[in-house]
Amino acid sequence: MGVADETADAVVVGGGTVGAWCACFLRRAGLARVVLIEKGFLGQGASSRAAGVVRMQGGTPEAVRLGQWSRRFYLGQRDEIGTDSGFTEQGYLLPCFTAAEVTAAHARLEMQRGLGVPVRWLDPGEVDAANPALAPGQTLGGTFCAQDGFISPPRNVAAYTVALIRGGVEVREHVAFLGLGGGGAAVETSAGRIGAGLVVLTGGPKLAAVGALAGLRIPAGGARHQVAVTERHPDLDPARVPMVFDLAAGLYWRPEEGGLLFGMSNPDEPPGENREVDEGYLAKMRARLAALVPVTASLGLRRVWAATIDYTPDHLPIIGRAPGLDRVTVASAGGAGMMWGPAVARAAADVALTGSSEVLDVSPLGLDRFDEAGHSRLATDPIALPFPERIAPS
Ligand SMILES: Cc1cc2nc3c(=O)[nH]c(=O)nc-3n(C[C@H](O)[C@H](O)[C@H](O)COP(=O)(O)OP(=O)(O)OC[C@H]3O[C@@H](n4cnc5c(N)ncnc54)[C@H](O)[C@@H]3O)c2cc1C
Repeated sequence: MGVADETADAVVVGGGTVGAWCACFLRRAGLARVVLIEKGFLGQGASSRAAGVVRMQGGTPEAVRLGQWSRRFYLGQRDEIGTDSGFTEQGYLLPCFTAAEVTAAHARLEMQRGLGVPVRWLDPGEVDAANPALAPGQTLGGTFCAQDGFISPPRNVAAYTVALIRGGVEVREHVAFLGLGGGGAAVETSAGRIGAGLVVLTGGPKLAAVGALAGLRIPAGGARHQVAVTERHPDLDPARVPMVFDLAAGLYWRPEEGGLLFGMSNPDEPPGENREVDEGYLAKMRARLAALVPVTASLGLRRVWAATIDYTPDHLPIIGRAPGLDRVTVASAGGAGMMWGPAVARAAADVALTGSSEVLDVSPLGLDRFDEAGHSRLATDPIALPFPERIAPS
């Protein structure tokens, strides 16, 4: 393809939470013309379908920093853009069920406290007292952070839509990214060629496919993840129910409109795009939830959905310039785009503009941490959903 139909200072691919906030940050940093291209409509990927959990209790220092930055961002949104993503400070408990989990939790707690997270240890009696809906005597204690919480994912899509429009980003919905031209100096789209000073590639569960269009191998995948919301019950009043992550089982829950929202992935399922509800697995989720929160056993479900969640092999984000393409930056929140998304977006904008970021040291988080087979040099974030070990074919 030849001459660009138009030019922009930056073109961002993907209208999810990572691409959209990144486009806002690039514009705010002073770029005159920022174009966001989205093959469908804003938020149609994972970002509108998430559970919204925002946790500073990360398993690695990078995860903690991204959670802290994103939480601060959510708290400051109303002042900055006049609306917000609905962040609710609910408190988050990570209970332990084995002695090994207790040891690991204490080590994490020290690391998190060292980074300024107000997390504390609750002994088994304190866990039960703080969770009247939890079956008593189940845990060996757990870590608790009162400042963790959740956002409303649809509100977040609305908030970034407002921010994009107010900030003067040019949003092109129903325009697909088809590839790069001129060594990253232009972007080929379904609506023509855009000359680009900078390019940021996002795509959530589709990031590997976006990367392939750009000639890049990006080890990022997608897997089915199910979420359901129970009927209301007085025992599930938000004042009585902290958010809880049963890490070993991969099941989490939080209050939602007087009931419980709970979510889980099936780690044994082959990765790939899938938005059908798996009733059999939903029954397993319900059984585990009922063992821990007995009142839910008799409650019907008000909503159930399945969507494709993004993941990386080490459950850590990807933030870095594409190898050999200095103008092109790649960004993925690694399946944690509600708790890390704004920070990943800001760090990606910084990296695109300057090569580094004050959000965190991104040097370990680039594509160069993966070998040919997609294995990461970094230790896996231990506080993550149990995703498939291998990457979905894109
Ligand atoms: C059911 C579920 C529950 C979740 N719960 C949580 C949670 O509680 N906490 C948490 O932190 N995270 C959660 N997540 C993960 C979180 O939603 C994602 O990490 C986040 O939304 C990823 O944002 P993104 O912008 O990278 O991707 P997306 O939101 O998927 O956006 C990528 C966009 O790129 C577009 N695109 C793809 N290909 C192209 C192309 N060729 N051209 C143009 N555009 C393209 C897509 O249409 C899409 O809109 C959950 C996810 C799911 C599915």
